[in-house]
Amino acid sequence: DIHHHPHNNGVNGMASHQIPDIKFTKLFINGSFVDSIKGRTLETVDPRNGEVIARIAEGDAEDVEVTVKAAREAFDDGPWPRMSGSQRARIMHKFADLIEQNLEELAALDSIDGGKLFLWGKSVDIPTAIEYLRYYAGAADKVHGEVLKSIRSLHAYTLKEPIGVVGHIIPWNFPSIMFFLKVAPALAAGCTMIVKPAEQTSLSALFYAHLAKKAGLPDGVLNVVTGFGHIAGAAISNHMDIDMVSFTGSTEVGRLIMQAAATSNLKSVSLELGGKSPMIIFDDADVDQAAMLALNGVAFNKGEICVAGSRVYVQEGIYDEFVKKLVEKAKAWKLGDPFDSSTCQGPQIDMKQFDKVMSYIDIGREEGATLLTGGKRWGTKGYYIEPTVFVDVKDDMRIATEEIFGPVMSIMKFKTIEEAIKRANASKYGLAAGIVTKDLNVANRVSRSIRSGIIWINCYFDFDADFPYGGYKQSGFTRDSGMDGFHKYLQVKTVVTPLQDSPWL
Ligand code: NAD
Repeated sequence: DIHHHPHNNGVNGMASHQIPDIKFTKLFINGSFVDSIKGRTLETVDPRNGEVIARIAEGDAEDVEVTVKAAREAFDDGPWPRMSGSQRARIMHKFADLIEQNLEELAALDSIDGGKLFLWGKSVDIPTAIEYLRYYAGAADKVHGEVLKSIRSLHAYTLKEPIGVVGHIIPWNFPSIMFFLKVAPALAAGCTMIVKPAEQTSLSALFYAHLAKKAGLPDGVLNVVTGFGHIAGAAISNHMDIDMVSFTGSTEVGRLIMQAAATSNLKSVSLELGGKSPMIIFDDADVDQAAMLALNGVAFNKGEICVAGSRVYVQEGIYDEFVKKLVEKAKAWKLGDPFDSSTCQGPQIDMKQFDKVMSYIDIGREEGATLLTGGKRWGTKGYYIEPTVFVDVKDDMRIATEEIFGPVMSIMKFKTIEEAIKRANASKYGLAAGIVTKDLNVANRVSRSIRSGIIWINCYFDFDADFPYGGYKQSGFTRDSGMDGFHKYLQVKTVVTPLQDSPWL
């Protein structure tokens, strides 16, 4: 399915690049691909070169209205919430099989849409999406309440029921993983849903909608409405007939979503927001390993990852050696076309994000931090930015406190473990943290002292379907992934009946 376009002669000197066919560009509502009611479309741009590769339907409040009606009917009267968990699981496994059969094409779509590495897409993003479907398919037939104890001659038990119609609003940095992180547990729970992918990366979401139908998912259960956040997204968060909104994105928009829920129908809200995660490297660390973890921690996926380890605290004993190794590694980190298997880093998602990251690099210089490497655009086309390392960073500088969402690292020196804990915790965010040490006591103490949703010890970015993650503080609340990421799509009903003539209480 992947074609070489001979007329497309390379980005930044690459010999050629691959463009998959773009088959799905319309809204997916109630089992059919349809144009938006007003007939509007929006551009999808290839971040490798800024070229428009497709126009996709731009849904608005009217389209959301029609979609919610379909999702509501599918929930209130349709088969999906009523069939057994194992029947739902069978369809989810079929869905996963179909993704497996289209794996390369889906990975290529995320590459041209989001500038993401094709090899990673093939080996990590799409397989992880599949894993989420299979993991939650395994949970679908294990939903049950409990028998409650009463001191008043009452027989009581709980039922776990699907929460209803869910609105999922997702970001552009992991289009496939984010889609299934939200959709898979909600499907397993028996919910029906409307997904609003990010306007920058909607192509794979529409492909998934097509595969869901092929797998036998009943119409109206999974709907995809593409469009802009402040229009289609806002229509979802303000809707009176959506029972829950599950959001991943920026802290600013998270606040708007919560406000909209508060002023509409008090829908349940789940927020996975931004971060400014610390990586703490102790004197006893293997310096090579620490430097690689730190570089990867901020440059993987071009730094467009909410859990990026963008604040790096290094103990004074290994500071100089660490900085030297890190700069060597950053200089060897290869930028290039995401389809080239030797590339470590592709382009930022779009011009807006490119400008934002470049402006933070200027801010770092103006604030008096020292730029050791990077700081420049790479190539002449597309939105590539070199991995950038700042030292002499003070804790209160903007580059050390604000989320940049790009390959920009601030390195800071520390003396004692107490100091490291205190400075790492001095953030409004609390998403992730990394600890590099061979000392188990240090690792245990620091991991229990840091206020964040996930701690990686001698590793970073290691996720699995059973691992819950999400934020402390202004990084959000509730968890995605794992069984915690499942139960939020269920609600608890308590059923009570008097016990007559029971031999025991
Ligand atoms: P964003 O918040 O602007 O957009 C995320 C989604 O929300 C998109 O689908 C967008 O269309 C929609 N949206 C925008 N405005 C809206 C509104 N007024 N009402 C309803 N929906 C709206 O974020 P972004 O710029 O796309 O992504 C970057 C941010 O997301 C970063 O801050 C990053 O930390 C965060 N993020 C967090 C996680 C996590 O798991 N915590 C994961 C990825 C990204």
